[in-house]
Amino acid sequence: MRKYENYALGNWVSGNGNETVLHNAITGAEIGIVSSGLDFSSMMEYARNVGGPALRKLTFQQRGLMLKQLALHLHSVKSKFYPVSYQTGATKIDSWIDIEGGIGNLFANASLRRQFPDQYFHVEGSAAPLSKNGTFIGHHILVPKQGVAIHINAFNFPVWGMLEKIAVNLMAGVPAIVKAATLTSFLTESMVREIIESDILPKGSLQLICGSARGILDHVDSEDVVTFTGSADTGKMLKSHQRLIEKAVPFNMEADSLNCSVLGEDAVPGTAEFDIFIKEVQKEMTVKAGQKCTAVRRVIVPEKLIEDVQIALGQRLSKTTIGDPSIEGVRMGSLAGKSQKKEVLENINKLANSQEIVFGSEESFEVVGASKEKGAFVSPFLFLNSYPFKNLDCHDIEVFGPVATIMPYKDVNEAIKLARLGKGSLVCSLVTNNMKLAEQFVLGASSMHGRILILNESCAKESTGHGSPMPLLTHGGPGRAGGGEEMGGIRGIKHYMQRTAIQGHPSTITAITKQYQIGAKQNIDGPHVFRKYFEEIQIGDTVITEKHLVTLDNIEEFAELSGDKFYAHMDENSLDGTIFTERVAHGYFIMSKAAGLFVDPPKGPVLLNYGIDECRFTKPVYPGMTIGVRFTAKEKITQEKKDENDIAKGIVKFLVDVYDDENDTVMLATILTMVKMKDQS
Ligand code: NAP
Repeated sequence: MRKYENYALGNWVSGNGNETVLHNAITGAEIGIVSSGLDFSSMMEYARNVGGPALRKLTFQQRGLMLKQLALHLHSVKSKFYPVSYQTGATKIDSWIDIEGGIGNLFANASLRRQFPDQYFHVEGSAAPLSKNGTFIGHHILVPKQGVAIHINAFNFPVWGMLEKIAVNLMAGVPAIVKAATLTSFLTESMVREIIESDILPKGSLQLICGSARGILDHVDSEDVVTFTGSADTGKMLKSHQRLIEKAVPFNMEADSLNCSVLGEDAVPGTAEFDIFIKEVQKEMTVKAGQKCTAVRRVIVPEKLIEDVQIALGQRLSKTTIGDPSIEGVRMGSLAGKSQKKEVLENINKLANSQEIVFGSEESFEVVGASKEKGAFVSPFLFLNSYPFKNLDCHDIEVFGPVATIMPYKDVNEAIKLARLGKGSLVCSLVTNNMKLAEQFVLGASSMHGRILILNESCAKESTGHGSPMPLLTHGGPGRAGGGEEMGGIRGIKHYMQRTAIQGHPSTITAITKQYQIGAKQNIDGPHVFRKYFEEIQIGDTVITEKHLVTLDNIEEFAELSGDKFYAHMDENSLDGTIFTERVAHGYFIMSKAAGLFVDPPKGPVLLNYGIDECRFTKPVYPGMTIGVRFTAKEKITQEKKDENDIAKGIVKFLVDVYDDENDTVMLATILTMVKMKDQS
């Protein structure tokens, strides 16, 4: 029988213990074995000593480009993974979510490189002034942890579950060991083989465990990070591991969740919203045969609409074709294995003790192109719980399959209470066109939910849906959902970095951060910065401009040119009760005049100015005052070439400090320029 292997210490290895037979979820046939018995301690040392240093040599820009290259490669070979995915019981759509959703996540995280500096660590926010004379400041930097990210994953998304997690630790410069859930590890294994063969990631940055990982947490150390996705019971057991506590290792838990979908009172039959609700709930019950952490488990409906919803949902569920995913027209595949089927049926029976089944049966349902007995198939099940404040099982028991419970509510406060009875969920959706209701519900239910989707006809077509966590938004939920905030763009990357406050003189902080800090030494020697190529510009290079006397004519002319005739610029009799003592110059005039002072006009390495990041007018400028500019190179970021013919260039951010006769700053801005490189090879 085929052996599915683990990838450890740079080699594919079978392991030497705890053999488990893997099955095709559709046919029940044995497809191979996995085993573990790996030396976890050596794997972790290898990641820390080989993968970590290699990743930390790369800047954020390089790591992002590496992920993009990986995503492009995996996308080009994506068709390989579909037949493997079908063996987990997934349909084509389910597989698309897992495979292409996972690859899409790599793309999304790769593009975050633009929001980080061009170096291997991050500089967060702005400096904090800590002294009266500006000689002592504080700042925050985030450096990659010199440990390993250990991802213990659930069986339901063998590809997406891995890619969404490694994307962020790799962006942060931290290597990973992925523990795939044994049941569907054969699909994760095929994806990791492709990743390793592509040779895009540095050595040691990714290892894989397909078999058991019992004991792995005995070897974690203080710079490691553990993430867990799976059942709350396993999660709680792992979270309380003594070694995690001793070494203060962060443990991010994504556990089960009793997500709900709520129908607004306005969304009566005949409205677009009613149809959207029925469609969304049916989809969220049956995609991945309900084995989604975000699947709808509780359907919260206005009392008067219970019967309508029950009928409409029942009709739609009865049209869900169940069977072999490779057959055209099949909309729901099987569960991931027989063990899952057993667990799902046991939990359905538990729910049936306190509520009525209104759709679904253990035996009488059709399966197309496969054997109901051999495969892990179940019918969708819909329950009705008429007393959801009394019969509480539906708020406690997570059936990890195509199963949901309809329940009535009297008013919005009851709907909020029912939503909160899930005791912490990943996601909730509300279908309504009533903005007041949306506001009331969202503010009442948010503290118990990681994400809330509000659907109506205007956004439904473009909506990404109840079930899809988006790479740039928080994914995770409070309480029962694990209390984690997995992923979520920059937040996810920072999870693998240590934030350190650094304090010192602005010149020292500039030297460390490679970002000019106000009060640091300026270099005013040499040619104008606009005469220098990207490589030649040094952080701190400064132009001290000539001065300009601001006149009333300037204000009049600027008002005429721009059309901005705001009273404070134009009417000296209108200033009572304002902070102005005279007609004040337009802030945009000051900015424009500053450009007139700092720009060196002849053609040179500066290609263009493409924006202003921050701009503050800090003191009014009146006619008769003179202004000058200190124009300082603040930060440099190398730009990638779009294609071979593109000009080699970089972004230079300049600090524009406009000051008056008293040497007080009247305006501060950061402008963004694109500067040509000398080396065009
Ligand atoms: P599970 O049984 O809790 O297993 C999760 C993972 O933990 C598997 O990889 C498992 O490996 C591993 N594991 C178990 N005991 C371990 C130990 N002592 N040491 C190290 N690893 C250990 O969960 P599951 O059945 O795979 O997944 C279903 C559950 O996941 C559902 O409850 C679902 O709601 C939840 N889920 C949540 C999210 C979310 O984002 N919140 C996402 C997906 C799924 P083995 O497979 O080798 O046992």
